[in-house]
Amino acid sequence: MLDWAVGVDLGGTNIRVAKVDVMGKISQPIFVEIDKADKRGADAPNFAQIISIVEGMISSNQEHPPLGIGFGVTGPINVETGIIDNPFTLPAYFQGNIKKTLEDKFNLKVVVENDANAACIGEAIFGAGAGATMVACLILGTGVGVGVINKGVVYRGANGVHPEAGHVHVDPTGPLCYCGRNGCLEALVSGTALKNIGVERGVLTAEQNGKDLADLAEAGNKEAVQIMLEAQQALGLGVVNLIYTYGPEKIIITGSALSRSDSLLVKLQAIADEASAYTKLRSEIKYGSLGDWAGTIGAATRILKTL
Ligand SMILES: [Zn+2]
Repeated sequence: MLDWAVGVDLGGTNIRVAKVDVMGKISQPIFVEIDKADKRGADAPNFAQIISIVEGMISSNQEHPPLGIGFGVTGPINVETGIIDNPFTLPAYFQGNIKKTLEDKFNLKVVVENDANAACIGEAIFGAGAGATMVACLILGTGVGVGVINKGVVYRGANGVHPEAGHVHVDPTGPLCYCGRNGCLEALVSGTALKNIGVERGVLTAEQNGKDLADLAEAGNKEAVQIMLEAQQALGLGVVNLIYTYGPEKIIITGSALSRSDSLLVKLQAIADEASAYTKLRSEIKYGSLGDWAGTIGAATRILKTL
């Protein structure tokens, strides 16, 4: 049996946990929604929902225990201390020192990673970016995450901070982002953004979401098509910013808010090639190949491989 690690991907809406082996294959996948209502009551310790899932997985594998726990979490997160301080997208009882909490509970090595980096690690090592030296990933979900892996090393800012390139500005006159500025990539192309724009323009009801907008566009709704075209244009500008900032060999686009189509890929590649004419480096645009489990696989990879 191959060595393995517990991979956890804590997003703004869901938790994904799985066994991940050294070949990047997952088993025993668990997918649950975050218990936002905290039904366990105020006395439950922080991270109780996650602890109980991980506990179940470890106890069902006692004959071959994991090498550790890789924990990917929606940013901002301090990967060195393991402290989650993210009131923007996570409830109060998902705040605190997750690294120390899990280490104390399970007596295992624990590595904490920004979720965008985790998904990028997964795709760069085992997915669509495998074999490339420099990979940038754009993850379109509830928000927009960006991760960059250069020669197997995660690109980080000073003191381990994650640069949050999902908040690059592509339209200074665009919608206000929760980060406090206008027209971030995230405020234009994330699932949340598409829903907000769709509702604002009367295309969606408050109960519908970004996926419904994509379906309406697919069915030929003119206003929905227009919104999707604007989002694609913003995504193209985001891709160009990544090319000029990092010079990646491959740009992987993935995430639950992405409506994949060959025509979008062709369009983004054309925009990328235009930028490449100046940088003289062709960046290939690809869709991710690991689906929604890229972050779980990547988080565990931080335990299974030296990155
Ligand atoms: Zn922003």
